[in-house]
Amino acid sequence: MSSTPVLPDPSTEPPAFTDLGLRPELLAALAALGYEEPTPIQREAIPPLLTGRDLLGQAATGTGKTAAFALPLLQRMPDDRAGDDPLALVLVPTRELAVQVSEAFHRYGKDLGARVLPIYGGQPIGRQLRALDAGVDVVVATPGRALDHIARGTLRLGNLASVVLDEADEMLDMGFAEDIEAILEHAPEQRQTLLFSATMPARIDGMARAHLTDPVRILIAREQPVAGEAPRVRQSAYLVARAHKPAALGRVLDVESPTAAIVFCRSREEVDRLTETMNGRGYRAEALHGGMSQEQRDRVMGRLRAGTADLLVATDVAARGLDVEQLSHVVNFDVPSAPESYVHRIGRVGRAGREGVAITLAEPREHRMLKTIERVTGQRITIDKIPTVADLRTRRLELTQAALRESLLEDDLDPFRVIVESLSDEFDLMEVALAAVKLAHEATLPGSDEAEEEIPQVAVRSPRDGRPAGYEGRGERRPARPRSAGTTQVFIGVGRRAGVRPQDLVGAITGETGVRGRDIGSIEIADRFSLVEVPVAVADEVIAGLRGSTIKGRKATVRRDREERPGEGRFDGGDRRERRDRR
Ligand code: AMP
Repeated sequence: MSSTPVLPDPSTEPPAFTDLGLRPELLAALAALGYEEPTPIQREAIPPLLTGRDLLGQAATGTGKTAAFALPLLQRMPDDRAGDDPLALVLVPTRELAVQVSEAFHRYGKDLGARVLPIYGGQPIGRQLRALDAGVDVVVATPGRALDHIARGTLRLGNLASVVLDEADEMLDMGFAEDIEAILEHAPEQRQTLLFSATMPARIDGMARAHLTDPVRILIAREQPVAGEAPRVRQSAYLVARAHKPAALGRVLDVESPTAAIVFCRSREEVDRLTETMNGRGYRAEALHGGMSQEQRDRVMGRLRAGTADLLVATDVAARGLDVEQLSHVVNFDVPSAPESYVHRIGRVGRAGREGVAITLAEPREHRMLKTIERVTGQRITIDKIPTVADLRTRRLELTQAALRESLLEDDLDPFRVIVESLSDEFDLMEVALAAVKLAHEATLPGSDEAEEEIPQVAVRSPRDGRPAGYEGRGERRPARPRSAGTTQVFIGVGRRAGVRPQDLVGAITGETGVRGRDIGSIEIADRFSLVEVPVAVADEVIAGLRGSTIKGRKATVRRDREERPGEGRFDGGDRRERRDRR
């Protein structure tokens, strides 16, 4: 087994789906979806749920909780059921979740012939009435619309065997407490009740006490910091809609130019799809998953070691125990299903004192799981913005410039002198150089950036205040940001226009001073300057260190921030600003 810097691999001998007691139809559906092994919550929840136990689960989106409850609920439905009233009701806070959860039920329950219906506000009620009338097995509903149908007598709960309250904390935050109580009053006393919530405030506890009987308690991601030495890994995440993930991955890799990277996916199917996409984008990508023979895997690893492949797209199962010297980047194509898995994955880079990079592509709804991972690992994950087409162009030009500089310093250019001399009779030398640079640029970086499209930036909406979390939205004014006690801000006269990213500032500070990354507070990057929050006690050391060094190749003004910044208005370009929040 490879050495793990922070946590031992929690799943050296993980139980398989076949060990959980699931029916062949469900196992077949999971295999077809390319799920290789159950996630931690699935391992813990499925066996007791199959016996009819109640459950209280603290788990955020991204942990695999939907399958954890959908699979046992589907299995518990009798094959020879009589009647058309639903056997299971899942209450969810939003229409999006209603659609997602019912799609999940549909995918897993296809071979069982499960009839699943999402009902939510905003959809014409007539269609829902007809579907309910035709008979359903599982209803996935937002509380308001469910109550509406109950009142009309079109949703009858008398046959319910199971009720799931999914994302209960969000439902309470959205003011659904009374609706939920009213709905549960219509459900039979004798039933199985499941409650999932990302957080466990007292109100949720009260709800659990009132409605669950001797529940199994499952806590994914206990919030204790893990002991041990953290790997030297720069960790960042990009929030991106599912549909834009492959493009975002390409864009981020183009800008990062890794020596060799491993991209983790959740399922075999995704591994195959993504490998194909990345090859189409000019990467030399190789798939690695549990469906491959040892010989096939050895061949793939050989190509990576020899440098004939530069991207490995893998599932956790296939990558277990794998040790690749050359890896510079680990990419999580999805947020891993448990913090332990995240830690294990990123432990593959940052070895032997080299700094590695861990990048996570998260859907906005997985934002919470990122926060949990941060808490558990005690390490910060910076939310970065997906490089724009302009960023990509700048980066490509930088690469061409670096290649030209290398050639100027090292190559024998004499054989080409005759060309330059003869062209210079006709053209200005500058123009000759420009044409040569253009050709070199196009030759070294095939694939024009003309075809590149902007990838939409997304923000997370927190139901508590309705405002985006993680970073501020486009065009918002800079809010007065509370500063932690005992810290001060250092002004650095380079910013986004110079290509400065939070990690550059952290790198410069930790490289030039004895200050550790975790002591650095929030970082704000404006177009022409940046502000870094540091403990007062080390501010002078940081200022001296930064004055003595260069950031992105530039010498910058560095001083204590005086608050009355000239041109504060520059911060107005909210979309050009990155911000890293202090936890
Ligand atoms: P959830 O946390 O329920 O929103 O699930 C997150 C994502 O993980 C969904 O896209 C599921 O399809 C996927 N997923 C759930 N369980 C597994 C598994 N055991 N293996 C691979 N993917 C999974």
